[in-house]
Amino acid sequence: MTDYKRQQIADYGRRLLADSLTTGTGGNISIAMRAEGLIAISPSGIGYNEIKAKDISLLEFDGRQLEGRPPSSEWHLHLALYQARPEINAVVHTHSRFATTFALLHEPLPACHYLIGVAQTKEIRVAPYATFGTEELARKTVAALGHNDRCILMANHGLLAVGEDLSEAYNTALYIEEVAELYYRARSLGTPVLLSDAEMDEALIRFRSYGCKPETKDAK
Ligand code: 13P
Ligand code: ZN
Repeated sequence: MTDYKRQQIADYGRRLLADSLTTGTGGNISIAMRAEGLIAISPSGIGYNEIKAKDISLLEFDGRQLEGRPPSSEWHLHLALYQARPEINAVVHTHSRFATTFALLHEPLPACHYLIGVAQTKEIRVAPYATFGTEELARKTVAALGHNDRCILMANHGLLAVGEDLSEAYNTALYIEEVAELYYRARSLGTPVLLSDAEMDEALIRFRSYGCKPETKDAK
């Protein structure tokens, strides 16, 4: 199980590069294995093309490291998310370009496209700024994400997505980056027409039954 999860993190790290969600060593990925009381997290400051499964760091829920290379500098953030949100088992953090553009402006992404609903919310809010890798950043980001949202912008930093499994967290990051790009493009041509509260309510209801959920959940 831990080997499979560590390989999965290494594979999804390469997807971050392939999908242009990050450059260099920006961003990080983790998976919680709650039954074992362990968190697998990408190592700090190693390029995604170089990361092997054995490099993925294994932490206990109190932050003690068991195996792998030194964990992502954002391990406080990942740990705090798992502690605050018992239903989530994966976290993806990126510096993807369009979402981060709005994070620099401290501008939330409004209901410009129904896909905002993948994050179980009607807008993607902005968490306040704090220095990367700090407990302060962890505290502020967890508080801003709240009890239900699946994605948030991090002021002057990037994007954070959470999910019940890694494919869900990753796809949320991917879709919200796409919405950020579309919103940026629409804003540069004119004034995007936003969906109403009622229209977003309907989209959110549809998302609850969208797709083949049981099959897409990680089996191992
Ligand atoms: P790590 O390489 O330590 O994960 O740092 C990247 C990052 O995005 C910090 O916020
Ligand atoms: Zn970062």
